[in-house]
Amino acid sequence: MKKIIEFDEVCDSCKGTGLYVGFAEHDGAAIVCHHCGGTGRYHFEHEYDEFTCRKNPPRKIKRVFLTNPG
Ligand SMILES: [Zn+2]
Repeated sequence: MKKIIEFDEVCDSCKGTGLYVGFAEHDGAAIVCHHCGGTGRYHFEHEYDEFTCRKNPPRKIKRVFLTNPG
């Protein structure tokens, strides 16, 4: 069964200001943060299947290695 986790968080790129001041912007200049569109808010949404138990592989497995030998 699909579940969705979603929440709003402070945009990490602009620290919630909606403005981005980077290397090229100086003397009081800024550009609208492209990450959040100037809102200062980042909406996180992730859809996932809740883990219940380990599933069987889709086809028959004959040998299992601990790691890829290279
Ligand atoms: Zn931002």
